[in-house]
Amino acid sequence: ANTMARDEIEQITGLTTNNLDAYWMPFTANRQFKKDPRLLVKAKDMHYTSADGRQILDGTAGLWCCNAGHGRQKIVEAVQKQVAELDYAPAFQMAHPKSFELAARLAALMPDPLNHVFYTNSGSESVETALKMALAYHKARGEGSRTRLIGRERGYHGVNFGGISVGGMVANRKQFGAMLAGVDHMRHTHGIAGNEFSKGVPKNGIEYAEDLMRLIQLHDPSTIAAVIVEPVAGSAGVILPPEGYLKRLREICDEHGILLIFDEVITGFGRLGTPFGVDYFDVIPDLVTTAKGLTSGVVPMGAVFASSKVYDAFMTGPDHLIELFHGYTYSAHPLACAAALATLDVYAEEELLTRGAKMAEYWQEALHSLRDCPHVIDIRNIGLIGAVELEPIAGEPTKRAFTAFLKAYEKNILIRTTGDTIAMSPPLIISESEIDTLVGTLRDVLKSLD
Ligand code: PLP
Repeated sequence: ANTMARDEIEQITGLTTNNLDAYWMPFTANRQFKKDPRLLVKAKDMHYTSADGRQILDGTAGLWCCNAGHGRQKIVEAVQKQVAELDYAPAFQMAHPKSFELAARLAALMPDPLNHVFYTNSGSESVETALKMALAYHKARGEGSRTRLIGRERGYHGVNFGGISVGGMVANRKQFGAMLAGVDHMRHTHGIAGNEFSKGVPKNGIEYAEDLMRLIQLHDPSTIAAVIVEPVAGSAGVILPPEGYLKRLREICDEHGILLIFDEVITGFGRLGTPFGVDYFDVIPDLVTTAKGLTSGVVPMGAVFASSKVYDAFMTGPDHLIELFHGYTYSAHPLACAAALATLDVYAEEELLTRGAKMAEYWQEALHSLRDCPHVIDIRNIGLIGAVELEPIAGEPTKRAFTAFLKAYEKNILIRTTGDTIAMSPPLIISESEIDTLVGTLRDVLKSLD
């Protein structure tokens, strides 16, 4: 087997039993992992190098974030230069020039009227920021009764309390008690009959948007502040919106004075073959949350895009007063701004934000060629993201897909699993032959599963 014995790892990396145990790993089965750690020590372009010296093809862009690929020289140099020049500047009542330059460039990437950018350090923080903006927006306009937030089953909006409250992934909620008050959830759009093995956006299920009407009727629109959805749900297993669904949500929100928030932490920065999901679906929400691809994963950073309508509602009253009592020590961190500016350069020079559209058909056909593999019950794709859903082993949910993940890693490809779904979202620089390798290896893995 390719996996290393623990003493071998200790030899190569200098890690001892003790310092393996000190690190409480996130979203990881710690005890299992530490028996047989999977350690990455280098990355360049499409590949990681594992501690035992293997080249691992990155089928997931790290965690859906390294959209420009790894070790991009321009980004590396920009961060190195920045840290030597200005390591940190306070973000409150002070600023540094790159924060303005970056915001202007980001705003120019987004369609009007999403013209204003608020910085955070992660997707989770972007979500909290957008939810707070939505609540404060209504209050600023004298509609403080609008306090209710609506998410969706199977939604993933990070791990902070607002995010897990509007989120709908049960495992991420059930350990943590009561959640935010005044939150409700629309039904998810996974598994709608007739949508199995759809290529791209599925045809059936626009009526699921009317589930928002059910909640509006139940609670009265005057109590609802905002609806938050991922245009394409990523972490729950690449769940696509039925054709027309997002447009219908927009219409309903408009009719009832409700803000619409798109969580584009995964779909932003080229994942769907357009700069944002906003562009792909031609639907303009009031707030858009982003992170990940913003810096291609190099430095933690998130950003919330706000429409002029939202921003302007705050820009009233005496101009020496703070308009929004919210922000982070590391908002607009100089290293993150430098990384993001260089990342946007790479995206522009190599046309990566639209490259997914050019590769989408090849990606789609490659993925759907797995249709006849054992255990496969659905395949979903859009842009350069895709999922292969497996039939769960009776009584042992998640086990089959996780076994596939382990075997894939042994065969030098990195994939991700959520439940019994295998998800993939490679760096946007992936070539056709690398798609062949990724999918071909996955085929071998699927054939080897019990
Ligand atoms: N929102 C969405 C849609 C995400 O996919 C994620 C992460 O996968 C987050 C929020 C949370 O981002 P982070 O892990 O950077 O906090």
